[in-house]
Amino acid sequence: MVIRPISDTTKPRKVRFGGHQWDAYRFIYCVLNEQVAARDQVVRHRCHNRRCINPHHLELGSQADNKRDDWANWAYGVDPDFL
Ligand SMILES: [Zn+2]
Repeated sequence: MVIRPISDTTKPRKVRFGGHQWDAYRFIYCVLNEQVAARDQVVRHRCHNRRCINPHHLELGSQADNKRDDWANWAYGVDPDFL
C-alpha cells in the first residue's frame, strides 16, 4: 500500500483561472498589485517558502534577484520579518 499526502507539501500551490493553471503566489501578487508580471520576471518569496501565498512576502524581480535572495538565504538565513 502506498500512502500519499493529500496535497504536495513542497511545490507551489496552484489556482485555476481563465482556463489556465497558475502558481497561486504569482496569481495573487499580480491581482493584488494590479500588475502583469512579464515572462522574464519572477515573483520572489522573501520568506523562501514556495508554498507561501502571503502577499506581504511576495516581491517582483528578476531571475538574478531571485538568485541573490538564495545566496543571502544560504549565508544569513531567512529574514525574521518574514517568519
Ligand atoms: Zn511567506
